[in-house]
Amino acid sequence: MTEETEPTTETRAAKAPDTEAPDTRVPDTRARTAEASPGDVAEPRLLTADDFLAANREWMREFPFGGLHVRPGRRLVILTCMDSRYTAQGVLGVEMGGAHVVRNAGGRVTDDAIRSLVLSAHALGTRECVVIHHTNCGLLDKTNEGIRDQVTEATGQDASHIDFLPFSDVAQSVREDLALLRACTLLPRGYQAIGFVYDVLTGRLEPVE
Ligand SMILES: [Zn+2]
Repeated sequence: MTEETEPTTETRAAKAPDTEAPDTRVPDTRARTAEASPGDVAEPRLLTADDFLAANREWMREFPFGGLHVRPGRRLVILTCMDSRYTAQGVLGVEMGGAHVVRNAGGRVTDDAIRSLVLSAHALGTRECVVIHHTNCGLLDKTNEGIRDQVTEATGQDASHIDFLPFSDVAQSVREDLALLRACTLLPRGYQAIGFVYDVLTGRLEPVE
């Protein structure tokens, strides 16, 4: 799995440390679009399968993760929002292979999050969940009614069966979700639940009791 050709001095110097993922960012398409529509709010073009495949070739070029075990090395699950401005592992300093990551809108303890946490604990050995909600969340100060109206306006369809789990106090939403985890009888005895609010402006974690 460690087979590689002799690297030149240049590629060796440029190689990222093993704990960091290679830089496989897809091309930034915003500038091009901004040129095409001056004065408008620039919407980047949608990435294509070819963009992703090109990025994936870079990802594979010095792929160091093939030997990792399916069981997370830190016996940890991180439950957090789908927000694009942070990675769960990055915020907590957890290496690749160290933790399961469950992400959904808000990082809420939903039935489907419980499904993942229970499987993670009993099939793959995790014993701790860190819940991270964050400032400037897309669910903050929203209402179910408002979100459902947006869906109906755009599609003509009824979304009243979906609870989007909006909140107005981010620390309180963490507390509520920690309480749900601590009350969950499907998780192992001694299971640990820890909560934080992440500040997307500063990168700071604030503990929530
Ligand atoms: Zn969010």
